[in-house]
Amino acid sequence: MNKYDLIVIGGGSGGVRAARIAAGHGAKVAICEEHRYGGTCVIRGCVPKKMMVYAAHYAEDFHDSASYGWSTTVNGFDWSKLIANKDQEIDRLNGIYINLLKNAGVEILNGTGRLVDANTVQVGEQTLNADKILIATGGTPFMPDIPGIEHAISSNEVFHLDAQPNSAIVVGGGYIAVEFAGIFNGIGTDTSLVYRSDQILRGFDNDIRKHLANEIVKKGIDLQLNNNIQSIELTDDQRKQVRFTNGTEKTVDCVLFATGRKPAIESLNLGNAGVELGDKGEIKVDKYSRTNIDNIFAVGDVTDRIALTPVATMEGHAFADTFFGNNERFADHENVPSAVFSQPPVATVGLTAEQARERFNSVDTYTSEFRVLKHTLTENTERTLMKLIVDADSDKVIGAHMAGPEAAEIMQGIAIAIKAGATKADFNATVGIHPSTAEEFCTMRTKDS
Ligand code: NDP
Repeated sequence: MNKYDLIVIGGGSGGVRAARIAAGHGAKVAICEEHRYGGTCVIRGCVPKKMMVYAAHYAEDFHDSASYGWSTTVNGFDWSKLIANKDQEIDRLNGIYINLLKNAGVEILNGTGRLVDANTVQVGEQTLNADKILIATGGTPFMPDIPGIEHAISSNEVFHLDAQPNSAIVVGGGYIAVEFAGIFNGIGTDTSLVYRSDQILRGFDNDIRKHLANEIVKKGIDLQLNNNIQSIELTDDQRKQVRFTNGTEKTVDCVLFATGRKPAIESLNLGNAGVELGDKGEIKVDKYSRTNIDNIFAVGDVTDRIALTPVATMEGHAFADTFFGNNERFADHENVPSAVFSQPPVATVGLTAEQARERFNSVDTYTSEFRVLKHTLTENTERTLMKLIVDADSDKVIGAHMAGPEAAEIMQGIAIAIKAGATKADFNATVGIHPSTAEEFCTMRTKDS
């Protein structure tokens, strides 16, 4: 039987990072993956999604360009071309991931990894022995059990639709639902976004949620709050006839459920090693990503901590440094920034105003709402919202939120300041870059009443 210091199950962001770093520290490492190296983010998540977001935004850009003197003729949108180009780039990235692993000296195995016991992993016909095992199998889409759900797709299939749907219903109010509603709407699909509760993006700052909802409706999305899909039937011409809980009906080409993701544990045979799970089927781990079994670890979405690629890589890296690099450290899950690549995008770091008021005695908020300079020459009525949350006692900035162009690019820098413990006085003392949108974060002086 082949013996390894570390076997990693799952070739996504977290697993690949951990395997490479551990091998770099001198460990004998093997990694197995049943699909393609790169994981959800690269193959059917963040990266292809962002390409589709770029594609969708051109519609608005072409329109706005007229006010800047351009005369353009747009001859439609070619879905097949976008998908083919996107697939080519994903193939390239998949190859890069494989090369990174090879160059680091990691043994690459293709196949599903299953636990035989706490030190043994089965991959196809091979049985491997490991001192340590890292599970980094990520998550899979959750689809509710409603009549006709088989006629709907998840975010796995949306990247491979044969043709652009003329009409679509997107279900959910989280990252994926809001992003794909924006993508479909931007490329000209008649799009409804259906969310079961009273406002999209639960957990985000309430002002940002309201602002974004308003903006996406202005851009043409049919936003249906407090509604859900009850059943789906296939029509004779293969369209989807949807019945809603509010009693209405609609027939569309495509129904996309973006109703959350669940930990991918099914094929692992975790019971063979006695690995403990939480209520949602997530692998329970401590701050060092260690499970209840001493030599078995887990990182990334399968642990249901913060389901973001950079968090999984941070966890994988910290694990490899701690257990193979003689450098004990753990991933810090405080002040993790994130963005929703909606149209306009939303980005956030730290606490929302609502969370801050629960945790601090005295909270000041600063809000700025305006039309960005670029749009002032155009008919584009999109407005931008920026918000800072400050602990009034310490003057520390404890949250920043934005809905507007380049929100993600801007928030990355703000996240560094907040991570470093910057105060509102530090923000005030920072000279803005003029004219920019980002400078507004340095010029907000009037507290919200
Ligand atoms: P989220 O958990 O963000 O959102 C799921 C949504 O589906 C919620 O609005 C939820 O409603 C709703 N929902 C859940 N169950 C049902 C149901 N039975 N019927 C109707 N609606 C339902 O999941 P996503 O799928 O959007 O994304 C998964 C994770 O992936 C995210 O949490 C994020 O961490 C990550 N991600 C990050 C991205 C980024 O960084 N840009 C992009 C995409 C994904 P309710 O609010 O009421 O619970």
